[in-house]
Amino acid sequence: MKIETKCLHSGYTPKNTEPRVIPIVQSTTYVFDSTNDIGDVFDDPTKALIYSRFENPTVMAVEAKIAELENGAAALCTSSGQAATLISLLNIMKTGDSFISTSQIYGGTVNLFAFTLKNNFGIECIFVDAGADESVINAAFKPNTKAVFTETIANPALTVLDIEKFAKCAHAHGVPLIVDNTFATPILCRPFEFGADIVVHSTSKYMDGHAVQVGGVIVDSGKFNWKNGKFPGLTEPDSSYHGIIYTETYGDLAYIIKARMHLMRDFGVYPSANSAFLLNLGLETLAIRMERYCKNAEIVANFLLESDKIESVSYPGLKGDKNYLLAQKYLSGASGVISFVVKGGRENAVKFMDSLKLASKEVHVCDIRTCVLHPASATHRQLNDTQLVAAGINPGMVRFSVGLENVDDIIDDIKMGLAVI
Ligand code: PLP
Repeated sequence: MKIETKCLHSGYTPKNTEPRVIPIVQSTTYVFDSTNDIGDVFDDPTKALIYSRFENPTVMAVEAKIAELENGAAALCTSSGQAATLISLLNIMKTGDSFISTSQIYGGTVNLFAFTLKNNFGIECIFVDAGADESVINAAFKPNTKAVFTETIANPALTVLDIEKFAKCAHAHGVPLIVDNTFATPILCRPFEFGADIVVHSTSKYMDGHAVQVGGVIVDSGKFNWKNGKFPGLTEPDSSYHGIIYTETYGDLAYIIKARMHLMRDFGVYPSANSAFLLNLGLETLAIRMERYCKNAEIVANFLLESDKIESVSYPGLKGDKNYLLAQKYLSGASGVISFVVKGGRENAVKFMDSLKLASKEVHVCDIRTCVLHPASATHRQLNDTQLVAAGINPGMVRFSVGLENVDDIIDDIKMGLAVI
């Protein structure tokens, strides 16, 4: 099936007389005929469902859909994008390990990596610039490095990742490349096609699109060789799961089954059936929405380029943009998110934003409605100036998420904002 068709039909195929739409199975648990039947499922958790802290039919239908959209082997939904990122890493790391991340990532992820993982878990993150040469990236690896983490289109710097470069470096050191594909979605980029091994998303963004649920997902390509000696958590007996060896028992699905049966069991960051149902409604129109977001954003970006009140515009879909060539190689559209720097720095950026009427001022992005944010005073408030620059953020930068309103109305709103500065 083509991707538009997958958006509508993957994950759930009703049989004779069954409901047309994925049913909401809002049940905490599942019933068995006997004690032995329950015991059997504890021996092999893939046999039947046990408990909705880590598995639920509604959520699993959506997981199957997203796995197909990414051309992956399997997926695991989480209750937020942050939970997806955290589990994707903890699934293959323990205290004393390290990993590499590009600096140009979402501010909340920087927080998680630079502070919480380090201080609470003893896991070190080494940051490298997304534009760094292979030699610089290779020099950041240590014997205890277990993964490389990146974003396809960085929030909010909008740098486009050279996926093949990072995949090459990761694989040369026997570790997986994990890509946060939130802004691109599988409609604009499928990182597995360029060598990524694990994909994560905040499904709160375009995948949902309507701002009605917070969620995340981890997708496993099923292709990484976990048996190279670096990942004992997958290749040696798990004493918390009566000695199961994930790679032996589950083969290509070892990573995602461990994430579900071990970490989801222990952390319990699984979405509700109701959230998954809402997410699925968003997924059904994802392909068609992405097309229009890209179209509207290109028009808005070109309008901003012409304004003498704007210092610079970043939109990888613009011919002159520094990420244009990478966007041409890896993306089939540059998403609806534009970042631009208002002349007059932080003060004018705030003035501009406060004057907008149609665009909502909110801590969200990739919504069906146009929304706007000043990263330096919100999502990236915790970063000092050096970290701001490393993350590609100018204090005068505005992140503008173009929605699906008529583009003339969006431009009229921007004109109003620019008129006050
Ligand atoms: N990854 C990216 C690129 C994001 O933009 C965000 C949130 O803005 C996250 C991850 C975290 O997702 P969530 O807010 O669903 O926890």
